[in-house]
Amino acid sequence: MTDLTPQPGIMEIALYVGGEAKIAGRDEALKLSANENPFGAGDAARAAFAAASRELHRYPSTDHAGLRAAIGEVHGIDPARVICGVGSDEVLQFVTQAYAGPGDEVILTRHGFSLYPILARAAGATPVSVDERERVVDVDAILSAVTDRTRVVFLTNPGNPTGTVLPPDEVVRLAEGLAGRAILVHDGAYSEFAGDGFDGGLGLADAFPHVVATRTFSKIYGLGGLRIGWGYASRAIVDVLNRLRQPFNLSTAQLAAAEAAVRDQAWVEWCRAENAKMRTWLTGKVRALGLGCDDSYTNFLLVRFADEAAALAADAALREDGILVRRVAGYGFPQALRVTVGDEVGCHRVADSLARHLGAK
Ligand code: PMP
Repeated sequence: MTDLTPQPGIMEIALYVGGEAKIAGRDEALKLSANENPFGAGDAARAAFAAASRELHRYPSTDHAGLRAAIGEVHGIDPARVICGVGSDEVLQFVTQAYAGPGDEVILTRHGFSLYPILARAAGATPVSVDERERVVDVDAILSAVTDRTRVVFLTNPGNPTGTVLPPDEVVRLAEGLAGRAILVHDGAYSEFAGDGFDGGLGLADAFPHVVATRTFSKIYGLGGLRIGWGYASRAIVDVLNRLRQPFNLSTAQLAAAEAAVRDQAWVEWCRAENAKMRTWLTGKVRALGLGCDDSYTNFLLVRFADEAAALAADAALREDGILVRRVAGYGFPQALRVTVGDEVGCHRVADSLARHLGAK
């Protein structure tokens, strides 16, 4: 019989568990569990997606020149240093696959994105987890975890599910400390929400040839369902990553929608302003209820309760009110819930539901 034992490391991968899409037994739910844009994609992206249906018989571009040019123009960066993938997930995968292998170590943080250890194991490498300090990435802890087997370091910035940010000078200190030792992946999936002074790692990738900045169309652009992301790095790294990329990894519809979306910065600005307004409002409401909540630099809040039982009770009460949020015990926060900042009506529903639940105790 054929030996079905896979390559070493694969059976140590814990399957990625996505958030629920619905509340069991209910047809309708206010979904605030996946950090999606409550307003969806902009009109320009939707129109481009619809128009792409006329080209479905044609193979898509293999070099993504149109999308990369648009990204280059909008962000003021060299399009030759941009690589596009099936979500930023795929770009993260290219980096891990290219630079880490059996016997190597990949550093990630305890509260970082749960895909990183999966990617490390899939490459045959060993994930090494480093604790944050007070929910903020600890640069010294990362630097002391580096060994001569470390090849890749993942930084989620702003963090998910913490919502916190590592200040730019600390990010530079991390990059400097890793120079000549490991690739630093600056995962900026939420960077558009961070506000002034944060460029999602693009300046960092310009300053350091060992930095890869990754970005996504899934969050502020409202295109999570289409799966498009990109990375920005030195030409040398991008050349390596492109060798791993399947020629037609992005479809005609993905490319068309993403290009229109990136050129429609008015939609991004509007969504950013709405998010900032409602984020401030909801943070105030949550704190007034006596719950823990750091300032968020993202489109979600990490709401901390007294203990795990209190978090589970609040989760149940929210579900009872038709609101689906994310439990984040798997990210090291059994006592917290991650709540996407929705539109005004959605934020009011969350605040009312939590107030009713806590007042009723
Ligand atoms: N990085 C972080 C920190 C995320 O939260 C996510 C989405 N869950 C991703 C990357 C991946 O995003 P996508 O593949 O949709 O671009």
